[in-house]
Amino acid sequence: MPALDDSVQFVKGVGPKKAKLLEKLHIATLRDMLETYPRDYEDRSHPVRIADITEEGKYAVRAVVGVEPKVSRIRKGLTLVKCTVFDESGTLAVTYFNNPYAAAQLRVGQEYLFYGRVQGTGRARVLVSPQAEKMAGGEDSPGRIVPVYPLTAGLTQRDMARVAEAALAAVPGEWPDPLPMVLRARYRLPDAAEALGAIHAPRTLDDVTEARRRMVFEELFLLCCGLQQLKERRRGEDGIPFAPVDNGWAFWDALPFAPTGAQRRAIGEICADCASGRPMNRLVQGDVGAGKTVVAAALCALAARSGWQAAFMAPTEILAAQHAETLSALLGKLNLSVTLLTGSMTAAQRRAALAAIETGAAQVVVGTHALIQQSVTFHRLGAVIADEQHRFGVAQRAALAAKGHTPHTLVMSATPIPRTLALIMYGDLDVSVLDETPPGRRPVETYAVGKNMRKRITAFIDKQLEAGGQVYVVCPLVEEGEIGLKSAEQHAKDLQAALPHRRVAVLHGRMKNADKERVMRAFAAWEYDVLVATTVIEVGVDVPNANLMVVEDADRFGLSQLHQLRGRVGRGARQSYCVFFGADKGETARARLKTLCRTNDGFEIARADLAQRGPGDFFGRRQHGLPALHVADLAADLALMQSAREEAEAILAADPGLAGYPELRARVQRMFAQRGDEAFN
Ligand code: ADP
Ligand code: MG
Repeated sequence: MPALDDSVQFVKGVGPKKAKLLEKLHIATLRDMLETYPRDYEDRSHPVRIADITEEGKYAVRAVVGVEPKVSRIRKGLTLVKCTVFDESGTLAVTYFNNPYAAAQLRVGQEYLFYGRVQGTGRARVLVSPQAEKMAGGEDSPGRIVPVYPLTAGLTQRDMARVAEAALAAVPGEWPDPLPMVLRARYRLPDAAEALGAIHAPRTLDDVTEARRRMVFEELFLLCCGLQQLKERRRGEDGIPFAPVDNGWAFWDALPFAPTGAQRRAIGEICADCASGRPMNRLVQGDVGAGKTVVAAALCALAARSGWQAAFMAPTEILAAQHAETLSALLGKLNLSVTLLTGSMTAAQRRAALAAIETGAAQVVVGTHALIQQSVTFHRLGAVIADEQHRFGVAQRAALAAKGHTPHTLVMSATPIPRTLALIMYGDLDVSVLDETPPGRRPVETYAVGKNMRKRITAFIDKQLEAGGQVYVVCPLVEEGEIGLKSAEQHAKDLQAALPHRRVAVLHGRMKNADKERVMRAFAAWEYDVLVATTVIEVGVDVPNANLMVVEDADRFGLSQLHQLRGRVGRGARQSYCVFFGADKGETARARLKTLCRTNDGFEIARADLAQRGPGDFFGRRQHGLPALHVADLAADLALMQSAREEAEAILAADPGLAGYPELRARVQRMFAQRGDEAFN
């Protein structure tokens, strides 16, 4: 009898080679497999009659092979197998490219359940490279709902199905369920074992929906319990008392501009928190360009003033470098030293930085995830800041805070999210909102265009450059084999050819960090006119002279992401523009992009985005693990989130240590511990 913690290697048909491949998908044991959810399902339970296939699309068809499959060689290295299948309503052509093996399996006169994509209509219909299952039990043997798992090269869906089957077989009869029975009953949720069965071997798509609902509830409930416990624990802790400041604080004089009312208010709240004797845990939320960096700088100055170090963590090297520069300029006036720590530094630079951090010579430390590595020791860490919070997990924040003893914590986010969601994601935080933009900004004029505007936009780019501006061009990440999309490199070449007298640079994810940084710096210093980039520039980088943002294939991005990108311009006094290509890619794409032309309000855009994507992506796949949620489920999920939070509060109010719920307690611990591990990778 296999156990859940057994290696997948011992599943029949797997072996060491495939186990290696499974490991790439983070599947080492049967339990890992159980926790790997399908990314989609194929509904083969409703085969259609051949005569009823009038549109292109994916279909299940029960049909008999009519003639012997015929193999032909189209050209060198490319074979095509053709055959015809029929049911009582008509006939259908089936083809396989370069897969003589699949075709050789087919027997004339045998009935199969085919599943695949039909291309063409009418007489030209072809079922392309379908999966074929022999119909075993004659007339009534039904088709199935088939899970589609994420794969990696060398693995097939069949391999995954085999491991999933073994994993399900290893689920013990008594399977502990972290959700208390009363909650399962109250929300009519299937129990854990049942839900896992339905996820990996559903009988109907409704089973999947129910199971998914349970998993969503479970995950949110565990998260809420954990956050709530964190908050409670902190409430009892002593915070480092920072000395209070008054209006004569030198920080205000160091600022190169008058702070906005919102910045003043947020900084005031921070000062009050830090002087209160309790640890601060605050979120500063403000749309792109609202001026969050200054608020972070204030906390750094406040800490240093009382003799404590501040650590400022940013999600990318480029952003960390830029923050270090901004803070050096500002805090330098107060004679504070700012040190940068990133993963791409040379060994000598790193050693020097680590030493300064450990002795306390570094008063303000700016860095990437590198800050939470084990080798980093602070002398007296009193304040931690996480910028662009949505890029970090709860535990990464916690890991940084653990470098000190109950330091004050500030997280900053530009992602406006609905209140229900915010209450969960930031369940352990107080909130300051920067709802005022610095003066003198003009809204970014935004246009959604199609390919037919290419020439005019290129001319428009040239015109902005002529007037002394700079231009960003963002391209989506292109995966190998995707057609119709241009990579950033290719696009940069084309643009350079179209504008030979301009200086065009390219920046993409596969470049070395040092190179990325060099290019970004050079662009900021106006050594380039145009920066063609993938979304590495999405977060935070500040080049006030840039006044035009062009996004290629904008339909490939989420609305909030596009809004963030747009926030890269409109930072100076010059009128700024944003152009989204992709408006000619169908009605939906056009309507989405039009939303952005209509409004500059991040909250409204986030709402529209959420309605279009479902909340799944807000959590990020890594922390979330569930298949992307579908639009239709959205209303239901928000309600479910609300319930999960209320139930977590209720249970913890009655039993703060979860002593009566051992499985729940263990799972909450595991959830937060896992996130901790991730933080150290
Ligand atoms: P965010 O991080 O909120 O997107 P930043 O902190 O990068 O925004 O600030 C955006 C730009 O606005 C920067 O160039 C910054 O110097 C400038 N800025 C911030 N606050 C003010 C202010 N009160 N007045 C004028 N400019 C400001
Ligand atoms: Mg920022």
